[in-house]
Amino acid sequence: MRHKVITACMATIFTIVGCSGDSETTFSGADSSVFLIVETLAADEMGGRDNLSPGSLLAQSFLYEELAKIAQPIFPAAQGIEGYLQHYDVGTNFLAVVPGGELADEYVMIGAHYDGHGSDDVCEGKTAEDDICNGASDNAAGVAAVIDIVRSIVADGVPRRSIIVTLWDGEEDGLVGSQYYVENPVIPLGKMIAYVNFDIQGANLLPSLRNYTVLVGAETGGANLIEASDQARESSSLDTVMLSLIFGQGRSDHAVLARSGVPAVFFTDANNGCYHTVKDDIDAVDFPKLEQQIRTANALIRRLVVTDDVPVFDDEAPLSVYEDAEELLPIVEAAQSDIGRFPPEAQVTAEQFLVDLQAIVDAGPEAFDTAAVGTVLVGASFLVATLRTLECDPFLADG
Ligand SMILES: [Zn+2]
Repeated sequence: MRHKVITACMATIFTIVGCSGDSETTFSGADSSVFLIVETLAADEMGGRDNLSPGSLLAQSFLYEELAKIAQPIFPAAQGIEGYLQHYDVGTNFLAVVPGGELADEYVMIGAHYDGHGSDDVCEGKTAEDDICNGASDNAAGVAAVIDIVRSIVADGVPRRSIIVTLWDGEEDGLVGSQYYVENPVIPLGKMIAYVNFDIQGANLLPSLRNYTVLVGAETGGANLIEASDQARESSSLDTVMLSLIFGQGRSDHAVLARSGVPAVFFTDANNGCYHTVKDDIDAVDFPKLEQQIRTANALIRRLVVTDDVPVFDDEAPLSVYEDAEELLPIVEAAQSDIGRFPPEAQVTAEQFLVDLQAIVDAGPEAFDTAAVGTVLVGASFLVATLRTLECDPFLADG
């Protein structure tokens, strides 16, 4: 039934701006669950949400349906959905505001990219039956996390600080939407106390790593953001590994905000074999895991909304610190039990990385020198690159 509704909407999309003129009839009208948000954004009807595509317009209409109920337009003078859209030459950011109370002029920015690769050249594994990269874990799941968290905060009343919701377009084309925003901020960046980014959520990497997820970049907000992030990870049953900004490899929109002087935290599962393939569908998303990730992020964001210990941007933090090695050790250790899934050469490298990492941790923080930083960074990026080459098997069945 839902698909029929979307199809009907698609038929009129070229005549009704954004397909949202009759907002109550376009989509269901009721709050969508996290599952339904992911399902809708990752449906074939959205075509993989490539920027400037009809599917992207459909996605914007759906975001409008979900967010207009809980957040204000960032351009209050504009009509309907246009109040939420920041157009630039090759895409459209979806932006919304939840006005705060006591500290209304301070903002917590919460975002995720809603665009995907659609059926473009980057999209891998296209067949006659399926030629759409639906981007379910990357990044319908991230968008669902944002909406769910904002909804839960709004349900508790007026937040102490304001919240700006930033759903970026053009991330997959090189962080284009967020870059446009920092060059054309609707609300000055200096009013943002922090940015929390979601990209690739509900994804599994190896059977041994199902309970792991990653939080990157807390040091960009100094001791206060590190402490708040550390506390927040107690809120879920997952092992949330905290790593310095550089481990995010500049690959999502958090990097743009961090470069612009906004303390930025990035929640991610890194990439598995389904990444940027036609198999990143709804059934590739581990929803119990996503729910736990939302708990962690919800705790962090709620704290940022009320805290007196605000993050203070730190652009002098070292690239990597001893704690990165400590945080990585358990995950690299755990991964060894699945090393048989790696190609033979990669098995040797992965085993050596564990030996080196153990030695670095054993040597203690005083010995954490430039060479150690290099070993940790090279080893981590090797693992991420290797995981990407494995077969898409989101639930990591044996065999
Ligand atoms: Zn992504």
